[in-house]
Amino acid sequence: MRLSYEQLNVIKEKLGVDKLWSFSKVSTYDQCSWLYLMKYIQKIRVKGDNCYTYFGSIAHEIIQDFYDGKMKYDEMLLKFNEKVVEWQVKDDPKLKFNTDKERDGYIENLRHYFTNVQTIPYKITNEQAVLAIFNGIEKYAFQGYLDSEFIDDQGNLVILDYKTSSISGFTGKKLIEKARQLMIYAIGVNQHGRLIEGKMQKFPIDKIKIRYDMMKYCNVSFLQKNGKMKTTKAERRLWVAHLANQLRKDLEDVPKDIEKLEKEIGKLEKKMNMKKTTPEDAEGYIVAIGEIAHDIEKLSPFVYDPIKINEMIENGTLENNLNVFPQFIQDKYTVENCYIDVEINDEVIAECKKELVATLDEITLKTAEEDKEEAFNRSRIENSDSYYCVNLCDLKEQCNFYKEFKEHNAMFVTKQEQPNDKELLAMLGLS
Ligand code: SF4
Repeated sequence: MRLSYEQLNVIKEKLGVDKLWSFSKVSTYDQCSWLYLMKYIQKIRVKGDNCYTYFGSIAHEIIQDFYDGKMKYDEMLLKFNEKVVEWQVKDDPKLKFNTDKERDGYIENLRHYFTNVQTIPYKITNEQAVLAIFNGIEKYAFQGYLDSEFIDDQGNLVILDYKTSSISGFTGKKLIEKARQLMIYAIGVNQHGRLIEGKMQKFPIDKIKIRYDMMKYCNVSFLQKNGKMKTTKAERRLWVAHLANQLRKDLEDVPKDIEKLEKEIGKLEKKMNMKKTTPEDAEGYIVAIGEIAHDIEKLSPFVYDPIKINEMIENGTLENNLNVFPQFIQDKYTVENCYIDVEINDEVIAECKKELVATLDEITLKTAEEDKEEAFNRSRIENSDSYYCVNLCDLKEQCNFYKEFKEHNAMFVTKQEQPNDKELLAMLGLS
């Protein structure tokens, strides 16, 4: 439930603060101090989305509508396809992907999600407001909304955030940085509790879990020969291609597995024919041999020549499913949602609070400066850190740093394109 302007004012009054902070405000500052200046101090606004925010909102809305009971499971893909057609008809240049390949991949991954997503077996609540308070040189009150939350069977409150972005950076130290938003929400839940079925419930940090659902990806699990389970992450639209080598091995191993089983039968037969073997033992061996022979019988139809194996891999990859593979291979692999869980504890949360307050204090001091442009100044954009500026910044056209970056690059390209003296004479037929 989104809070109204009036409701937010009631909260501010109650907390004794003149403004509420949002996570996007802090992350904008972390991303680029100049962008913060333009957005939140100079209040420059640009209308509209880019392709990522556009499809990100659609994906959130569909899965949340499903959990809210407004949509059935098989209506999710229909809705998504409808939205893709709407977007195609709009043909808005601001909503274009960088390349056709990226566009097709992005859309196919989400189509796979809305066809195969495993639903959560707990009661889900969406878009619940959360409030977190921090103390620095002043009191900071954060307000945000959780994509989804639920209580699992161990009584943990799970904060679930849907992500349509790339999975890169969602590991190790970077994951902790990325998870700052959810940690702030976890702190809020810990500070104020949660109203569950009309009752206020408190959650210590170790009973709060934070989790990302990386919508474009899936986890594929299978049992290895050594008896251990292996789980690998793959882009949804390419998960069979991602497993192609393993699948080929499964098929190529069938004759070897049969050979191994035959050897086992040989060993058992030897034991059975030994003089010291009692009639009871022999009976046991006969049963075991029968079972192994049955396994061989089951595997025998799946001895394929290399051409057939190639064909199966190709078709499976094209269809992105295992329907063309034998049942025992289909049963071996499990495709699940790609969740990324972030381990939090009191120490991690304390560090998050410390860093956050330091950033908030920094912003507050800079905002109080007379010369704001000087206070929020940044270094020039380098090629190595230009990805966000080029692809994601919605105020790049208003940004002097970006203008300079473009001019510098254009100059560089022009220089590259100039023929040298020798090439020039050759071009003019004077060499
Ligand atoms: S284009 Fe780059 S430098 Fe300019 S405001 Fe955006 S993020 Fe900052």
